[in-house]
Amino acid sequence: MDKEKMRSDNLDRYARRTLDPVWRAEQIKNTRDYRRNAPIEVRERERGYKKKWQAQRGIWRRALALDHYGGCCACCGEDRDYFLAMDHIDGGGNKHRKKIGFRSLSGWLFENNWPEGFQVLCHNCNTAKYRFGVCPCQEL
Ligand SMILES: [Zn+2]
Ligand SMILES: [Zn+2]
Repeated sequence: MDKEKMRSDNLDRYARRTLDPVWRAEQIKNTRDYRRNAPIEVRERERGYKKKWQAQRGIWRRALALDHYGGCCACCGEDRDYFLAMDHIDGGGNKHRKKIGFRSLSGWLFENNWPEGFQVLCHNCNTAKYRFGVCPCQEL
């Protein structure tokens, strides 16, 4: 038996199979069926992995965004991560939020290569800015 030939035959068959749309459709259907018929705890676990990964990715992107835009409140200098949020420098946050949909702002900033026009503000300064137009710590 010619081993080399056998291997190339196998490769051939494999290549033909993966290029065959019918075969591919079958595989996709099988995977879907497997998922659908998998025991509930397997499905829950898979969903859990995805959620966990998405949450972790959100945390990383938020940290990256905060770091990129200065790492502390542009107004008062607060640098405790928990108090910080991304802010649109010239307002329009809600409109922009609508445009980017349900995705998080830091995720959007990440995907768009850190565009200009954003800054880090703490929640105090952020709220004050939108309520009074200017933050009280700028008036001192
Ligand atoms: Zn502040
Ligand atoms: Zn302030």
